[in-house]
Amino acid sequence: MKIRRKQIREFYRRHTPSIKVPLVLFCIFICMVPLLIQGRVLASSSRQAQIERRIIDVQNQCQIVSNKMSRNGYLTNSMVDNAGTDAELSMLADIFNGRILIVNSGFKIIKDTFALSEGKICIANEVIQSFQGENTSKYDTQKHYFVLAIPIAENVQGADPTVSGKTAGVMVVTASTESMFALEEGLIEKASLYQLMMFVLVLILVFLVTGIITKPFDTITLFLNRVAEGNLDEDISEESYRETKRISRAVNRTLRTLKKVEQSRQEFVSNVSHELKTPITSIRVLADSLMGMEDAPKELYQEFMSDISDEIDRESKIIDDLLTLVKMDKASAEINVAQGNINGVIEMILKRLRPIARKRNIELIFESMRDVTADIDEVKFSLAVNNLVENAIKYNKEDGWVRVTLDADHKFFYIKVADSGIGIPEEFKDRVFERFYRVDKARSRETGGTGLGLAITKNVILMHHGGIRVESAEGVGTTFMVRIPLIYIH
Ligand code: ADP
Repeated sequence: MKIRRKQIREFYRRHTPSIKVPLVLFCIFICMVPLLIQGRVLASSSRQAQIERRIIDVQNQCQIVSNKMSRNGYLTNSMVDNAGTDAELSMLADIFNGRILIVNSGFKIIKDTFALSEGKICIANEVIQSFQGENTSKYDTQKHYFVLAIPIAENVQGADPTVSGKTAGVMVVTASTESMFALEEGLIEKASLYQLMMFVLVLILVFLVTGIITKPFDTITLFLNRVAEGNLDEDISEESYRETKRISRAVNRTLRTLKKVEQSRQEFVSNVSHELKTPITSIRVLADSLMGMEDAPKELYQEFMSDISDEIDRESKIIDDLLTLVKMDKASAEINVAQGNINGVIEMILKRLRPIARKRNIELIFESMRDVTADIDEVKFSLAVNNLVENAIKYNKEDGWVRVTLDADHKFFYIKVADSGIGIPEEFKDRVFERFYRVDKARSRETGGTGLGLAITKNVILMHHGGIRVESAEGVGTTFMVRIPLIYIH
Protein backbone atom coordinates (compact mmCIF):
# COMPACT_ATOMS: atom_id res chain seq x y z
CA MET A 1 0.00 0.00 0.00
CA LYS A 2 2.84 2.34 1.03
CA ILE A 3 4.80 1.48 -2.10
CA ARG A 4 1.74 2.09 -4.27
CA ARG A 5 1.18 5.51 -2.70
CA LYS A 6 4.87 6.31 -3.24
CA GLN A 7 4.59 5.23 -6.87
CA ILE A 8 1.52 7.42 -7.36
CA ARG A 9 3.34 10.39 -5.78
CA GLU A 10 6.36 9.75 -7.99
CA PHE A 11 4.15 9.52 -11.08
CA TYR A 12 2.39 12.76 -10.10
CA ARG A 13 5.75 14.47 -9.53
CA ARG A 14 6.98 13.43 -12.97
CA HIS A 15 3.75 14.17 -14.80
CA THR A 16 2.48 17.12 -12.76
CA PRO A 17 -0.72 18.22 -14.49
CA SER A 18 -1.40 21.75 -15.62
CA ILE A 19 -3.79 23.82 -13.51
CA LYS A 20 -5.98 23.75 -16.62
CA VAL A 21 -6.81 20.06 -16.07
CA PRO A 22 -8.76 20.46 -12.80
CA LEU A 23 -10.29 23.67 -14.17
CA VAL A 24 -11.50 21.90 -17.34
CA LEU A 25 -12.78 18.90 -15.39
CA PHE A 26 -14.58 21.12 -12.92
CA CYS A 27 -16.27 23.18 -15.63
CA ILE A 28 -17.32 20.08 -17.56
CA PHE A 29 -18.70 18.55 -14.38
CA ILE A 30 -20.62 21.71 -13.50
CA CYS A 31 -22.11 22.06 -17.02
CA MET A 32 -22.71 18.48 -18.07
CA VAL A 33 -23.88 16.74 -14.91
CA PRO A 34 -27.01 18.94 -14.41
CA LEU A 35 -27.80 18.55 -18.12
CA LEU A 36 -27.59 14.76 -17.94
CA ILE A 37 -29.55 14.58 -14.68
CA GLN A 38 -32.21 16.89 -16.03
CA GLY A 39 -32.56 14.72 -19.18
CA ARG A 40 -32.86 11.57 -17.12
CA VAL A 41 -35.40 13.03 -14.67
CA LEU A 42 -37.52 14.51 -17.43
CA ALA A 43 -37.55 11.24 -19.42
CA SER A 44 -38.45 9.12 -16.44
CA SER A 45 -41.19 11.43 -15.13
CA SER A 46 -42.80 11.73 -18.58
CA ARG A 47 -42.71 7.92 -18.89
CA GLN A 48 -44.33 7.59 -15.47
CA ALA A 49 -47.09 10.05 -16.36
CA GLN A 50 -47.83 8.24 -19.63
CA ILE A 51 -48.08 4.87 -17.89
CA GLU A 52 -50.36 6.25 -15.20
CA ARG A 53 -52.59 7.85 -17.83
CA ARG A 54 -52.76 4.57 -19.76
CA ILE A 55 -53.65 2.56 -16.61
CA ILE A 56 -56.43 4.99 -15.68
CA ASP A 57 -57.71 4.90 -19.24
CA VAL A 58 -57.79 1.10 -19.36
CA GLN A 59 -59.26 0.96 -15.87
CA ASN A 60 -62.14 3.31 -16.83
CA GLN A 61 -62.99 1.43 -20.00
CA CYS A 62 -62.86 -1.91 -18.24
CA GLN A 63 -64.95 -0.58 -15.37
CA ILE A 64 -67.66 0.34 -17.86
CA VAL A 65 -67.58 -3.17 -19.32
CA SER A 66 -67.49 -4.68 -15.81
CA ASN A 67 -70.63 -2.72 -14.85
CA LYS A 68 -72.30 -3.85 -18.02
CA MET A 69 -71.39 -7.48 -17.28
CA SER A 70 -72.77 -7.10 -13.82
CA ARG A 71 -76.07 -5.76 -15.14
CA ASN A 72 -76.27 -8.46 -17.80
CA GLY A 73 -75.63 -11.17 -15.25
CA TYR A 74 -72.59 -12.34 -17.26
CA LEU A 75 -71.42 -14.45 -14.38
CA THR A 76 -74.65 -15.13 -12.54
CA ASN A 77 -77.20 -15.83 -15.27
CA SER A 78 -76.36 -18.80 -17.46
CA MET A 79 -79.41 -18.09 -19.61
CA VAL A 80 -77.96 -14.87 -20.96
CA ASP A 81 -76.11 -14.85 -24.28
CA ASN A 82 -72.64 -13.46 -23.60
CA ALA A 83 -71.40 -13.37 -27.19
CA GLY A 84 -71.82 -9.59 -27.45
CA THR A 85 -69.90 -8.97 -24.22
CA ASP A 86 -67.15 -11.43 -25.25
CA ALA A 87 -66.72 -9.59 -28.56
CA GLU A 88 -66.54 -6.32 -26.68
CA LEU A 89 -63.86 -7.79 -24.34
CA SER A 90 -61.82 -9.03 -27.32
CA MET A 91 -62.04 -5.66 -28.99
CA LEU A 92 -60.99 -3.89 -25.81
CA ALA A 93 -58.02 -6.26 -25.36
CA ASP A 94 -56.95 -5.60 -28.94
CA ILE A 95 -57.16 -1.84 -28.47
CA PHE A 96 -54.93 -2.01 -25.40
CA ASN A 97 -52.67 -4.55 -26.98
CA GLY A 98 -53.37 -6.78 -24.02
CA ARG A 99 -55.30 -9.73 -22.67
CA ILE A 100 -58.45 -9.91 -20.58
CA LEU A 101 -59.38 -12.80 -18.29
CA ILE A 102 -62.69 -13.20 -16.50
CA VAL A 103 -62.43 -15.18 -13.29
CA ASN A 104 -65.59 -16.41 -11.50
CA SER A 105 -66.19 -16.79 -7.77
CA GLY A 106 -64.63 -20.24 -7.87
CA PHE A 107 -61.34 -18.66 -9.16
CA LYS A 108 -61.93 -20.40 -12.48
CA ILE A 109 -61.08 -18.58 -15.67
CA ILE A 110 -64.25 -18.58 -17.70
CA LYS A 111 -63.11 -16.21 -20.43
CA ASP A 112 -59.63 -15.54 -21.88
CA THR A 113 -59.31 -13.24 -24.89
CA PHE A 114 -56.26 -15.28 -25.91
CA ALA A 115 -58.38 -18.48 -25.44
CA LEU A 116 -55.42 -20.16 -23.73
CA SER A 117 -56.33 -20.48 -20.09
CA GLU A 118 -60.09 -21.02 -20.05
CA GLY A 119 -61.08 -23.57 -17.43
CA LYS A 120 -57.87 -23.06 -15.45
CA ILE A 121 -57.73 -21.78 -11.89
CA CYS A 122 -56.36 -18.32 -11.15
CA ILE A 123 -55.55 -17.44 -7.56
CA ALA A 124 -53.27 -14.47 -8.13
CA ASN A 125 -52.99 -11.97 -5.27
CA GLU A 126 -54.66 -9.24 -7.28
CA VAL A 127 -57.63 -11.54 -7.93
CA ILE A 128 -58.07 -12.44 -4.27
CA GLN A 129 -57.88 -8.77 -3.30
CA SER A 130 -60.34 -7.84 -6.00
CA PHE A 131 -62.90 -10.36 -4.70
CA GLN A 132 -63.05 -8.15 -1.65
CA GLY A 133 -64.36 -5.38 -3.85
CA GLU A 134 -61.11 -3.48 -4.51
CA ASN A 135 -59.65 -2.35 -7.83
CA THR A 136 -55.97 -3.34 -7.93
CA SER A 137 -53.18 -2.48 -10.30
CA LYS A 138 -49.54 -3.50 -10.60
CA TYR A 139 -46.83 -2.35 -12.99
CA ASP A 140 -43.84 -4.48 -13.91
CA THR A 141 -41.02 -2.02 -14.63
CA GLN A 142 -38.73 -4.70 -15.98
CA LYS A 143 -41.04 -6.35 -18.48
CA HIS A 144 -43.05 -3.20 -19.17
CA TYR A 145 -46.59 -4.40 -18.64
CA PHE A 146 -49.33 -3.76 -16.13
CA VAL A 147 -52.00 -5.94 -14.52
CA LEU A 148 -55.37 -4.60 -13.45
CA ALA A 149 -57.96 -6.53 -11.46
CA ILE A 150 -61.48 -5.09 -11.55
CA PRO A 151 -64.26 -6.69 -9.52
CA ILE A 152 -67.50 -7.61 -11.29
CA ALA A 153 -70.36 -7.05 -8.85
CA GLU A 154 -73.17 -9.55 -8.42
CA ASN A 155 -76.34 -8.52 -10.18
CA VAL A 156 -79.00 -7.31 -7.71
CA GLN A 157 -82.16 -6.31 -9.42
CA GLY A 158 -82.49 -2.54 -9.57
CA ALA A 159 -79.34 -1.81 -7.52
CA ASP A 160 -76.23 0.06 -8.67
CA PRO A 161 -73.76 -2.78 -9.52
CA THR A 162 -70.87 -0.84 -8.06
CA VAL A 163 -72.52 -0.67 -4.64
CA SER A 164 -74.34 -3.98 -4.48
CA GLY A 165 -71.66 -5.35 -2.11
CA LYS A 166 -71.06 -8.87 -3.44
CA THR A 167 -68.43 -9.70 -6.06
CA ALA A 168 -69.38 -12.32 -8.62
CA GLY A 169 -66.07 -12.37 -10.43
CA VAL A 170 -62.96 -10.44 -11.40
CA MET A 171 -61.83 -9.02 -14.69
CA VAL A 172 -58.00 -9.34 -15.00
CA VAL A 173 -56.47 -7.09 -17.62
CA THR A 174 -52.84 -7.47 -18.69
CA ALA A 175 -51.46 -4.91 -21.15
CA SER A 176 -48.01 -4.16 -22.49
CA THR A 177 -46.62 -0.61 -22.47
CA GLU A 178 -43.64 -1.35 -24.72
CA SER A 179 -45.13 0.12 -27.87
CA MET A 180 -45.82 3.37 -26.00
CA PHE A 181 -42.09 4.08 -25.81
CA ALA A 182 -41.09 3.43 -29.39
CA LEU A 183 -41.57 7.12 -30.15
CA GLU A 184 -39.80 8.14 -26.98
CA GLU A 185 -36.70 6.06 -27.85
CA GLY A 186 -36.27 8.21 -30.95
CA LEU A 187 -36.52 11.34 -28.83
CA ILE A 188 -33.95 10.01 -26.35
CA GLU A 189 -31.55 9.32 -29.21
CA LYS A 190 -31.94 12.89 -30.43
CA ALA A 191 -31.42 14.19 -26.88
CA SER A 192 -28.20 12.15 -26.56
CA LEU A 193 -26.92 13.65 -29.80
CA TYR A 194 -27.78 17.09 -28.50
CA GLN A 195 -25.96 16.31 -25.24
CA LEU A 196 -22.89 15.17 -27.16
CA MET A 197 -22.88 18.39 -29.16
CA MET A 198 -23.23 20.37 -25.97
CA PHE A 199 -20.31 18.44 -24.48
CA VAL A 200 -18.05 19.27 -27.42
CA LEU A 201 -19.12 22.92 -27.32
CA VAL A 202 -18.54 23.13 -23.55
CA LEU A 203 -15.14 21.48 -24.00
CA ILE A 204 -14.03 24.04 -26.61
CA LEU A 205 -15.35 26.94 -24.54
CA VAL A 206 -13.74 25.66 -21.34
CA PHE A 207 -10.36 25.27 -23.10
CA LEU A 208 -10.57 28.83 -24.39
CA VAL A 209 -11.65 30.24 -21.02
CA THR A 210 -9.00 28.35 -18.98
CA GLY A 211 -6.39 29.58 -21.47
CA ILE A 212 -7.46 33.16 -20.72
CA ILE A 213 -7.69 32.55 -16.94
CA THR A 214 -4.19 31.07 -16.68
CA LYS A 215 -2.49 33.58 -19.01
CA PRO A 216 -1.19 35.81 -16.15
CA PHE A 217 0.63 32.78 -14.71
CA ASP A 218 2.37 32.30 -18.06
CA THR A 219 3.42 35.96 -17.95
CA ILE A 220 4.88 35.46 -14.45
CA THR A 221 6.74 32.33 -15.59
CA LEU A 222 8.24 34.20 -18.57
CA PHE A 223 9.33 37.00 -16.26
CA LEU A 224 10.92 34.59 -13.75
CA ASN A 225 12.79 32.88 -16.59
CA ARG A 226 14.27 36.26 -17.50
CA VAL A 227 15.25 36.74 -13.83
CA ALA A 228 16.89 33.29 -13.82
CA GLU A 229 18.96 34.42 -16.83
CA GLY A 230 20.31 37.24 -14.65
CA ASN A 231 17.99 40.15 -15.34
CA LEU A 232 17.37 41.55 -11.84
CA ASP A 233 16.61 45.14 -12.87
CA GLU A 234 13.03 44.78 -14.09
CA ASP A 235 9.99 44.70 -11.83
CA ILE A 236 6.92 42.60 -12.54
CA SER A 237 3.41 44.06 -12.41
CA GLU A 238 1.02 41.27 -13.31
CA GLU A 239 -2.14 42.55 -11.62
CA SER A 240 -4.94 40.70 -13.44
CA TYR A 241 -6.06 38.94 -10.25
CA ARG A 242 -5.58 39.58 -6.56
CA GLU A 243 -3.51 36.37 -6.41
CA THR A 244 -1.17 37.38 -9.25
CA LYS A 245 -0.92 40.85 -7.69
CA ARG A 246 0.26 39.20 -4.45
CA ILE A 247 2.70 36.95 -6.34
CA SER A 248 4.05 39.97 -8.26
CA ARG A 249 4.62 41.92 -5.05
CA ALA A 250 6.33 38.96 -3.35
CA VAL A 251 8.55 38.44 -6.42
CA ASN A 252 9.48 42.14 -6.51
CA ARG A 253 10.31 42.05 -2.79
CA THR A 254 12.48 38.96 -3.33
CA LEU A 255 14.19 40.66 -6.27
CA ARG A 256 14.96 43.73 -4.17
CA THR A 257 16.52 41.53 -1.46
CA LEU A 258 18.47 39.63 -4.12
CA LYS A 259 19.73 42.89 -5.57
CA LYS A 260 20.83 44.04 -2.11
CA VAL A 261 22.60 40.74 -1.47
CA GLU A 262 24.28 40.92 -4.87
CA GLN A 263 25.33 44.51 -4.24
CA SER A 264 26.76 43.75 -0.79
CA ARG A 265 28.52 40.67 -2.22
CA GLN A 266 30.19 42.84 -4.85
CA GLU A 267 31.10 45.45 -2.23
CA PHE A 268 32.50 42.74 0.00
CA VAL A 269 34.63 41.27 -2.78
CA SER A 270 36.03 44.68 -3.71
CA ASN A 271 36.66 45.47 0.00
CA VAL A 272 38.44 42.16 0.49
CA SER A 273 40.65 42.76 -2.55
CA HIS A 274 41.45 46.26 -1.38
CA GLU A 275 42.19 45.21 2.22
CA LEU A 276 44.39 42.33 1.11
CA LYS A 277 46.23 44.51 -1.36
CA THR A 278 47.13 47.25 1.14
CA PRO A 279 49.74 45.30 3.18
CA ILE A 280 51.16 43.78 -0.02
CA THR A 281 51.60 47.26 -1.52
CA SER A 282 53.36 48.41 1.69
CA ILE A 283 55.64 45.37 1.57
CA ARG A 284 56.46 46.07 -2.09
CA VAL A 285 57.25 49.76 -1.35
CA LEU A 286 59.47 48.80 1.58
CA ALA A 287 61.26 46.10 -0.38
CA ASP A 288 61.72 48.32 -3.46
CA SER A 289 63.18 51.15 -1.43
CA LEU A 290 65.57 48.76 0.29
CA MET A 291 66.66 47.36 -3.05
CA GLY A 292 67.07 50.87 -4.46
CA MET A 293 69.48 51.80 -1.69
CA GLU A 294 73.09 50.89 -2.20
CA ASP A 295 75.05 50.36 0.99
CA ALA A 296 72.03 50.94 3.25
CA PRO A 297 72.99 50.80 6.92
CA LYS A 298 72.16 47.60 8.85
CA GLU A 299 69.78 49.49 11.20
CA LEU A 300 67.71 50.70 8.25
CA TYR A 301 67.55 47.15 6.91
CA GLN A 302 66.36 45.94 10.32
CA GLU A 303 63.77 48.69 10.59
CA PHE A 304 62.39 48.00 7.09
CA MET A 305 62.38 44.25 7.69
CA SER A 306 60.46 44.76 10.95
CA ASP A 307 57.89 46.90 9.05
CA ILE A 308 57.59 44.17 6.40
CA SER A 309 57.05 41.62 9.17
CA ASP A 310 54.28 43.82 10.68
CA GLU A 311 52.57 44.03 7.29
CA ILE A 312 52.74 40.25 6.92
CA ASP A 313 51.16 39.90 10.40
CA ARG A 314 48.40 42.26 9.33
CA GLU A 315 47.74 40.35 6.11
CA SER A 316 47.61 37.13 8.06
CA LYS A 317 45.15 38.65 10.62
CA ILE A 318 42.85 39.86 7.83
CA ILE A 319 42.87 36.38 6.27
CA ASP A 320 42.18 34.76 9.66
CA ASP A 321 39.26 37.13 10.37
CA LEU A 322 37.87 36.59 6.88
CA LEU A 323 38.01 32.82 7.28
CA THR A 324 36.24 33.09 10.65
CA LEU A 325 33.48 35.17 9.06
CA VAL A 326 33.10 32.96 6.00
CA LYS A 327 32.83 29.88 8.20
CA MET A 328 30.08 31.51 10.25
CA ASP A 329 28.26 32.70 7.12
CA LYS A 330 27.60 29.20 5.86
CA ALA A 331 24.04 27.98 6.32
CA SER A 332 25.48 24.86 7.92
CA ALA A 333 27.68 26.90 10.30
CA GLU A 334 28.32 24.77 13.33
CA ILE A 335 27.74 25.93 16.86
CA ASN A 336 28.91 23.65 19.65
CA VAL A 337 26.68 24.71 22.49
CA ALA A 338 27.38 23.59 26.07
CA GLN A 339 26.65 24.94 29.53
CA GLY A 340 29.35 27.49 30.38
CA ASN A 341 30.15 29.82 33.24
CA ILE A 342 29.90 33.32 31.78
CA ASN A 343 31.66 34.97 34.76
CA GLY A 344 34.65 32.70 34.22
CA VAL A 345 34.81 33.41 30.48
CA ILE A 346 34.71 37.20 31.01
CA GLU A 347 37.32 37.08 33.79
CA MET A 348 39.63 35.10 31.53
CA ILE A 349 39.26 37.63 28.68
CA LEU A 350 39.93 40.57 30.99
CA LYS A 351 43.00 38.82 32.40
CA ARG A 352 44.38 38.37 28.89
CA LEU A 353 43.73 41.98 27.88
CA ARG A 354 44.89 43.62 31.11
CA PRO A 355 48.56 43.99 30.00
CA ILE A 356 47.46 45.89 26.83
CA ALA A 357 45.19 48.16 28.91
CA ARG A 358 47.95 48.78 31.43
CA LYS A 359 50.21 50.12 28.67
CA ARG A 360 47.85 53.10 28.29
CA ASN A 361 46.89 53.18 31.94
CA ILE A 362 43.31 52.12 31.23
CA GLU A 363 41.39 50.62 34.13
CA LEU A 364 39.51 47.36 33.39
CA ILE A 365 36.56 46.84 35.73
CA PHE A 366 34.29 43.78 35.91
CA GLU A 367 30.94 44.11 37.68
CA SER A 368 29.00 40.89 38.05
CA MET A 369 25.47 41.13 39.49
CA ARG A 370 25.20 37.37 39.78
CA ASP A 371 26.81 34.11 38.80
CA VAL A 372 25.57 33.22 35.32
CA THR A 373 25.57 29.84 33.63
CA ALA A 374 24.21 29.62 30.07
CA ASP A 375 24.30 27.61 26.84
CA ILE A 376 27.17 28.98 24.76
CA ASP A 377 29.75 27.98 22.20
CA GLU A 378 32.66 29.00 24.45
CA VAL A 379 35.24 29.55 21.67
CA LYS A 380 32.95 31.75 19.55
CA PHE A 381 31.45 33.56 22.54
CA SER A 382 34.93 34.39 23.92
CA LEU A 383 35.91 35.79 20.51
CA ALA A 384 32.83 38.06 20.47
CA VAL A 385 33.38 39.47 24.00
CA ASN A 386 37.12 39.75 23.38
CA ASN A 387 36.48 41.93 20.31
CA LEU A 388 34.19 44.25 22.32
CA VAL A 389 36.65 44.68 25.20
CA GLU A 390 39.64 45.01 22.85
CA ASN A 391 37.82 47.75 20.91
CA ALA A 392 36.92 49.50 24.20
CA ILE A 393 40.66 49.60 25.00
CA LYS A 394 41.77 50.46 21.44
CA TYR A 395 39.39 53.38 20.98
CA ASN A 396 39.98 54.78 24.51
CA LYS A 397 41.93 57.69 25.90
CA GLU A 398 45.03 57.50 28.04
CA ASP A 399 44.06 56.93 31.74
CA GLY A 400 40.54 55.93 30.70
CA TRP A 401 38.41 53.05 31.95
CA VAL A 402 36.46 50.07 30.56
CA ARG A 403 33.58 48.63 32.57
CA VAL A 404 32.18 45.17 31.79
CA THR A 405 28.86 44.42 33.53
CA LEU A 406 27.13 41.02 33.68
CA ASP A 407 23.53 40.50 34.73
CA ALA A 408 20.73 38.02 34.04
CA ASP A 409 17.01 37.45 34.47
CA HIS A 410 15.04 34.20 34.14
CA LYS A 411 15.40 34.14 30.34
CA PHE A 412 18.46 36.08 29.21
CA PHE A 413 21.88 37.20 30.35
CA TYR A 414 23.12 40.70 29.60
CA ILE A 415 26.66 41.95 29.05
CA LYS A 416 27.46 45.66 28.89
CA VAL A 417 30.90 46.85 27.69
CA ALA A 418 31.19 50.58 28.46
CA ASP A 419 34.25 52.77 27.89
CA SER A 420 35.39 56.31 28.39
CA GLY A 421 36.77 56.44 24.82
CA ILE A 422 36.49 58.58 21.72
CA GLY A 423 32.91 57.50 20.99
CA ILE A 424 31.23 56.89 17.64
CA PRO A 425 29.56 59.75 15.74
CA GLU A 426 25.75 59.26 15.63
CA GLU A 427 25.66 58.90 11.80
CA PHE A 428 28.11 55.93 11.84
CA LYS A 429 26.58 54.08 14.79
CA ASP A 430 24.60 51.62 12.67
CA ARG A 431 27.45 51.00 10.22
CA VAL A 432 30.10 49.79 12.67
CA PHE A 433 28.80 46.20 12.39
CA GLU A 434 29.37 46.17 8.61
CA ARG A 435 32.34 44.25 7.27
CA PHE A 436 35.45 46.41 6.81
CA TYR A 437 33.66 49.50 8.08
CA ARG A 438 35.89 51.75 10.20
CA VAL A 439 35.07 55.24 11.43
CA ASP A 440 38.68 56.33 11.39
CA LYS A 441 40.65 54.15 8.98
CA ALA A 442 44.03 55.49 10.04
CA ARG A 443 43.37 54.92 13.73
CA SER A 444 42.06 51.43 13.14
CA ARG A 445 45.13 50.58 11.05
CA GLU A 446 47.43 52.00 13.70
CA THR A 447 45.86 49.75 16.31
CA GLY A 448 46.03 46.70 14.04
CA GLY A 449 42.28 46.60 13.30
CA THR A 450 40.87 44.83 10.27
CA GLY A 451 37.36 46.30 10.34
CA LEU A 452 35.94 42.78 10.76
CA GLY A 453 35.87 42.51 14.58
CA LEU A 454 32.32 43.81 15.18
CA ALA A 455 30.96 41.91 12.15
CA ILE A 456 32.31 38.70 13.73
CA THR A 457 30.89 39.67 17.15
CA LYS A 458 27.43 40.33 15.71
CA ASN A 459 27.47 37.03 13.78
CA VAL A 460 28.39 35.08 16.92
CA ILE A 461 25.62 36.74 18.96
CA LEU A 462 23.06 36.06 16.23
CA MET A 463 24.19 32.42 16.16
CA HIS A 464 23.36 32.31 19.88
CA HIS A 465 19.90 33.78 19.04
CA GLY A 466 20.82 36.98 20.84
CA GLY A 467 21.03 40.67 19.96
CA ILE A 468 23.51 43.54 20.16
CA ARG A 469 23.13 47.33 20.13
CA VAL A 470 25.35 50.30 20.68
CA GLU A 471 24.98 53.64 22.44
CA SER A 472 27.64 56.26 22.08
CA ALA A 473 28.46 59.94 22.54
CA GLU A 474 31.39 61.41 20.65
CA GLY A 475 34.25 62.26 22.99
CA VAL A 476 32.43 60.76 26.01
CA GLY A 477 32.37 57.03 25.46
CA THR A 478 30.63 54.02 23.97
CA THR A 479 28.51 51.22 25.44
CA PHE A 480 27.83 47.94 23.62
CA MET A 481 24.86 45.99 25.03
CA VAL A 482 24.51 42.26 24.40
CA ARG A 483 21.54 40.03 25.24
CA ILE A 484 21.68 36.23 24.87
CA PRO A 485 19.12 33.56 25.93
CA LEU A 486 20.23 31.41 28.88
CA ILE A 487 18.92 28.31 27.11
CA TYR A 488 19.80 27.66 23.48
CA ILE A 489 16.89 26.24 21.50
CA HIS A 490 17.98 24.40 18.33
P1 ADP B 1 38.45 47.36 13.84
O1 ADP B 1 39.26 46.19 13.52
O2 ADP B 1 38.73 48.53 12.97
O3 ADP B 1 38.44 47.70 15.28
P2 ADP B 1 35.72 46.62 14.29
O4 ADP B 1 34.76 45.93 13.40
O5 ADP B 1 36.04 45.99 15.56
O6 ADP B 1 36.98 46.91 13.43
O7 ADP B 1 35.12 48.06 14.58
C1 ADP B 1 34.67 48.84 13.51
C2 ADP B 1 34.82 50.30 13.79
O8 ADP B 1 33.92 50.71 14.83
C3 ADP B 1 36.18 50.66 14.32
O9 ADP B 1 37.08 50.93 13.27
C4 ADP B 1 35.90 51.93 15.11
O10 ADP B 1 35.91 53.05 14.27
C5 ADP B 1 34.50 51.72 15.64
N1 ADP B 1 34.50 51.24 17.03
C6 ADP B 1 34.36 49.97 17.45
N2 ADP B 1 34.35 49.90 18.80
C7 ADP B 1 34.47 51.16 19.24
C8 ADP B 1 34.51 51.76 20.55
N3 ADP B 1 34.42 51.04 21.66
N4 ADP B 1 34.65 53.10 20.63
C9 ADP B 1 34.72 53.84 19.50
N5 ADP B 1 34.66 53.34 18.24
C10 ADP B 1 34.56 52.03 18.12
